[in-house]
Amino acid sequence: MKKAVFPGSFDPITKGHENIVRRAALIFDEIVVSIGSNSTKQSMFTLEQRTNWLREVFADVSNVTVDSYDGLTIDHCKSIGAQFLLRGVRNGGDFEYERTIAQMTKYMDPQLETVILFTDPEYAAINSTVVREILRNNGDVSHFIPTCIHISGPTR
Ligand code: ADP
Repeated sequence: MKKAVFPGSFDPITKGHENIVRRAALIFDEIVVSIGSNSTKQSMFTLEQRTNWLREVFADVSNVTVDSYDGLTIDHCKSIGAQFLLRGVRNGGDFEYERTIAQMTKYMDPQLETVILFTDPEYAAINSTVVREILRNNGDVSHFIPTCIHISGPTR
């Protein structure tokens, strides 16, 4: 069984994340969307809120589940028996960053294979950091987030 973890902050989930997961769900038997706590980032939305949104967005995809973890992503993958690490790439900046992470991952756990999907072009400009900035300024983010969720402002 081919099981992949899609790790990220999802603060909040965007149409770009959704696109990667829905396409990857056709490739892997199971995908676990895993919210990681990043020591360098203070999230805008609580873990509970981000989990609820992810569960709502993927409620119709039977092979996608949602969880969260502390610590290293490779340790999380090992603990749930995932052989693949899924990531998305939008542009050259993402590519360089993802290549570094994938190559360091390979040194740390040669069994864990990183699989990268390029974002579909219509979602390439969507970025959670910019979505948060729009929200802080009371702007409308409905074009950038999955249609089933509604966010009108920061929860913390
Ligand atoms: P991180 O904090 O690890 O960057 P994110 O939640 O921002 O976590 O992103 C998780 C994954 O989704 C990363 O691989 C990132 O490159 C990818 N991603 C983010 N936005 C998009 C997008 N618009 N299209 C495709 N992939 C994306």
